[in-house]
Amino acid sequence: MITKGEQCSETVWGERVQSWQCQKRAVVVRDGKPYCKIHDPEYIVRKNAERQAEYEAKTEVRSARWKLELTAVNACKKINPDNPQAVAESIGDMYEALKVLLGIVAHNALPSEAKIRQAEKALSKADRK
Ligand SMILES: [Zn+2]
Repeated sequence: MITKGEQCSETVWGERVQSWQCQKRAVVVRDGKPYCKIHDPEYIVRKNAERQAEYEAKTEVRSARWKLELTAVNACKKINPDNPQAVAESIGDMYEALKVLLGIVAHNALPSEAKIRQAEKALSKADRK
């Protein structure tokens, strides 16, 4: 009968294809064989599942980021194929200008020359070559 506290039964491989029995103390018995904590087959299965889940979560985050970047770059290229970077750098200004103009229009007013110039400046920033 095998009990806890016996030597772990896992084989450890060293350099130059040497191997030896793990020197750690067994803490569990699985299918009649003693194993230390890190060679416990159930621990290994659990650890692999955790690593897989972590990998999949990271892959999902990377994939979502990649999709966002691709969408943003393609949208910028559509507006200014020669200089999508200019579009990316002008988005904040265009957003602000559009909000201001829509706010003025919503009050049935006409935008001032300054507000129109602000919007034109944002657009020309996006259109620059
Ligand atoms: Zn071991």
